[in-house]
Amino acid sequence: MYILLMGPPGAGKGTQAERLIEEYKIPHISTGDMFRAAVKQGTELGKEAKRYMDAGGLVPDAVTIGIVREGLAKPECAKGFILDGFPRTDEQAVALDDILNGLGIKMTGVINIVVPDADLVSRVTGRRICKNCGATYHVIYNPSKVDGVCDKCGGTLYQRDDDKEETVKNRLNAYHSQTVPLIEYYKQKGVYEEINGKQDIDKVYADVKSALESRM
Ligand code: ADP
Ligand code: AMP
Repeated sequence: MYILLMGPPGAGKGTQAERLIEEYKIPHISTGDMFRAAVKQGTELGKEAKRYMDAGGLVPDAVTIGIVREGLAKPECAKGFILDGFPRTDEQAVALDDILNGLGIKMTGVINIVVPDADLVSRVTGRRICKNCGATYHVIYNPSKVDGVCDKCGGTLYQRDDDKEETVKNRLNAYHSQTVPLIEYYKQKGVYEEINGKQDIDKVYADVKSALESRM
């Protein structure tokens, strides 16, 4: 199963990816997670990425394409993967086609989780993530049992630096101007599936799964 998850910031890509990983036992390639890991480690990549992330803009294509090319070439991706948050620009989409062609892989489906902008600010500002295992919660829509503590591993929950209201607006602008055009690109390839992301998490998952299984 070769899955690409699309959608605006806060649509629920990471949340759905957590379930897909468990069900299909395939790796999760999230460019956002990769950049956050690099920031945490203080690498050169992290330092460069952080400048763009803090402003709510996109990290340059050359850098982003390079890390995905490396990630997808790993043997654990040969049988399937969940690509989350990539591609986000035309140039990245063209590069992804080239990477997949080189690996002899055909995408199972491009799943676009659609949520109106009006709902995204509260989703993003209420998001909390486990420092230890990366599980995603929401203070209102998907709270942990004990405030600030991960249900799965007991780790501490934190708020991402870029999940502040001021930054979210810029991220939404970047999404609309640079990523929305890719919807047409994937529709024309015949791999595009649209999911209503404004339903509860279980219902969204049921729709994602049935869209994917109908394409297998
Ligand atoms: P993305 O990876 O697309 O940025 P996340 O999966 O991190 O989005 O979800 C953003 C926030 O919204 C998280 O706090 C998550 O718990 C919450 N969330 C995810 N899916 C739903 C949903 N269907 N309804 C309400 N809240 C949701
Ligand atoms: P995300 O975790 O997907 O919300 O991404 C967090 C931030 O990482 C984004 O706001 C961008 O600054 C950067 N980022 C993640 N994926 C990409 C990408 N495909 N292209 C450019 N920047 C990205």
